Amino acid sequence: MLHAYQEKCTMCNLKHRQLLEAAHIIPDSEERGLPIVKNGLSLCKIHHAAFDHNILGIDADYIIHVKREILEESDGPMLQHGIKELNKQKIILPSNRKDHPEKEYLDHKFHEFLRQN
Ligand SMILES: [Zn+2]
Repeated sequence: MLHAYQEKCTMCNLKHRQLLEAAHIIPDSEERGLPIVKNGLSLCKIHHAAFDHNILGIDADYIIHVKREILEESDGPMLQHGIKELNKQKIILPSNRKDHPEKEYLDHKFHEFLRQN
């Protein structure tokens, strides 16, 4: 999985393996949450947690959305550069098309994000 993404965070391009995790789009607690590349994203630890908790969402066109109340918040560089500036950016996709995240899975997860915004 991390290999498909050339070992970098799909949101911020961070390339330090020790800070990267393989994230599920649909969590493995759900029936469709399969441990396959198409249900996965390579994310750094902060973006993994933000994605799981719907602080960041990714729509089916691979565009990142930041939770509305976070966009209105002012804080230090992690919030400003690490999170808020990702709003409306496109994720970095694996070079091989067959490894791209499944749009249907992203859409499913993005609806959960929208419900919480
Ligand atoms: Zn990241």
